[in-house]
Amino acid sequence: MAASTLSAKQNEHATKATHEKKLDQLAEVAVKVGLGLAAGQELVMTASLDAAPLARRITEHAYRAGASLVTTLFSDDEATLMRYRFAPDESFDHAPKWLYDGMGAAFRNGSARLAITGANPALLSKEDPAKVGRANRAVSQAYQPALELIVRHAINWTIVASATPAWAAAVFPDDPPDGALARLWDAIFETTRINQDDPVSAWKAHDASLQRRASFLNEKRYAALHYRGPGTDFRLGLADDHLWLGGGTTAGNGLYCIPNMPTEEVFTTPHKDRADGTVTATKPLSYQGTMIEGIRVRFEEGRIVEAHATKGEEVLKNLIGTDEGARRLGEVALVPHSSPIASSGMIFLNTLFDENAASHIALGRAYTSCLRDGDKLTPEQLAAKGANDSIIHVDWMIGSDKLDIDGITSSGAAEALMRQGEWA
Ligand code: ZN
Ligand code: ZN
Repeated sequence: MAASTLSAKQNEHATKATHEKKLDQLAEVAVKVGLGLAAGQELVMTASLDAAPLARRITEHAYRAGASLVTTLFSDDEATLMRYRFAPDESFDHAPKWLYDGMGAAFRNGSARLAITGANPALLSKEDPAKVGRANRAVSQAYQPALELIVRHAINWTIVASATPAWAAAVFPDDPPDGALARLWDAIFETTRINQDDPVSAWKAHDASLQRRASFLNEKRYAALHYRGPGTDFRLGLADDHLWLGGGTTAGNGLYCIPNMPTEEVFTTPHKDRADGTVTATKPLSYQGTMIEGIRVRFEEGRIVEAHATKGEEVLKNLIGTDEGARRLGEVALVPHSSPIASSGMIFLNTLFDENAASHIALGRAYTSCLRDGDKLTPEQLAAKGANDSIIHVDWMIGSDKLDIDGITSSGAAEALMRQGEWA
């Protein structure tokens, strides 16, 4: 009895030590490889209260790397819900513009940006979709000037994930809370390569392979992509002078960062006026606390002319009604079905993971870094090349092991690019 109790305790102790070590490695990789934080740089971090242990580890590694100041803005799910319960109706058209202006000022003054994701994907699913839509729109508008610096890669930034009890419960509803949390952490450590012997060099090798894939596509210079799969027959023109990117990027401030951890995609800018046909999503979309399932839309000349969802259709319609660019595409990304995230078979209910498990497209704003010299072009020049503009950017998954994609050359010839979800 005593012996077995002791060994159970020892086991628990060992598991905890292993977890602490992995958490520390994740923080180290986030600061060194994801952010590429420079000595003397400030860091602005956002996290939920549940992610405080990872936020603290990141803070430690940022200071060890020479950060001059780390400022973390914590959010609290319970407080968010109280607004829906008690705030006056007019509250939902408000956002803390002063806060986002301050973040923008920090970025312009040389700060790096790290976001820890891990929110409850269903936090707002029982709230009034109209209020959720208004609140989202207010935030999108207020955040716009600061977000612009992120989207243009003016500064080094990255997003990493922390498992949280609510997120774990949504992903593993049948598991006891502790078990669900441990499973979600393990999935995060696995897909962010922390389970490998040397996570920093594993990331460098992975980054190089994504860069090679992007170069291959840049040499091909396809004019369009043609998608065929269940519920999908869709032709998507690529923007003139489009540039495929994958893995890391050198930000405008000269620092090399890998903006998403994990990342498995190569992506570019589609032409905002050249999408035709029907697309069916292959995974649910968790959009700011609401689940949208069974998305099916039809495009004509780049514009969504019909939109359906089996669940959350009203939120979807609010989303694409945000502005004119919200019903056009700003990103196209290719991800093989054999990526570590896809092979986990999990649906993470979090875009950072799910978008890296499947080929996807994004409604809304295009990344100007996906165009040749895009950062030097005026908004008019960007639009002339086909780059979309909007206050939103929302990815949704259309890839599966049943999806075939052809690259269409400028002369109109079709070349097999992906077959049954894998690179051809
Ligand atoms: Zn993407
Ligand atoms: Zn995206």
